[in-house]
Amino acid sequence: MNRRRRVYEGKAKILYEGPEPGTLVQHFKDDATAFNAKKKDVIDGKGVLNNRICEFIFENLNAIGVPTHFVRRLNMREQLIREVEIVPLEVIVRNVAAGTLSERLGLDEGTQLPRSIIEFCYKNDELNDPLVSEEHITAFGWAAPQEIDDIMALAIRVNDFLSGLFLGVGIRLIDFKLEFGRLYENEMVRIVVADEISPDSCRLWDIGSDEKLDKDRFRRDLGGLLEAYTEVARRLGIMSENEPVATARGPVLVQ
Ligand code: 5GP
Repeated sequence: MNRRRRVYEGKAKILYEGPEPGTLVQHFKDDATAFNAKKKDVIDGKGVLNNRICEFIFENLNAIGVPTHFVRRLNMREQLIREVEIVPLEVIVRNVAAGTLSERLGLDEGTQLPRSIIEFCYKNDELNDPLVSEEHITAFGWAAPQEIDDIMALAIRVNDFLSGLFLGVGIRLIDFKLEFGRLYENEMVRIVVADEISPDSCRLWDIGSDEKLDKDRFRRDLGGLLEAYTEVARRLGIMSENEPVATARGPVLVQ
């Protein structure tokens, strides 16, 4: 077996060189981190679930004409993606107050916002991904004004799609984080949704009980993260009722 070239390793994912130029393999790890990796654990099976949930969401986004970097799922933990130049922003879309918005503005968690709000954070671990404005983004050249317009238009489309998707299975989409990339093809460049969309990057509450079905179960020591992610996958029809979650790691790829 050939050794694969590791292009990048993040907190929850590894990117390997892909089979063809312009492609990468995105590998979902079982590592869970929070508060800029100050809190860490390994949750067997999380990577498998996120890979499946992310595949489902990105495939549907591609199908409705929202461009993403996703090409296809390769195996339990990996997907083939297009190589993009990541825009150094975390784009947060909020429908309901929670997390840092609640802390910053003193809003009770669960308060419906008057309209969806988009926030930008500068992707920089050393600075804890600080909140920035469009002025910062254009002044420092992180994205051009037209790119910010494209990012906001796509973020709103993703929010509309995800809100409806989750509402249909009894889940309230509180907020989520997106990343975007520049895809270069035939002398053209366009903005596409990149990274991942999964319960690691969304807040998802059960509509009836407000039970958290997302990474806040880990951040807030609530336990039951794997069960919550499995529930999200089952409701989306990704896993059948009786399909066991692959918690055993099985054969380990030698790298
Ligand atoms: P908050 O700013 O309230 O902590 O997060 C808002 C939303 O963005 C939440 O759904 C949270 O999961 C997501 N989010 C914010 N920062 C990150 C991050 O660095 N990684 C991931 N996976 N999600 C994030």
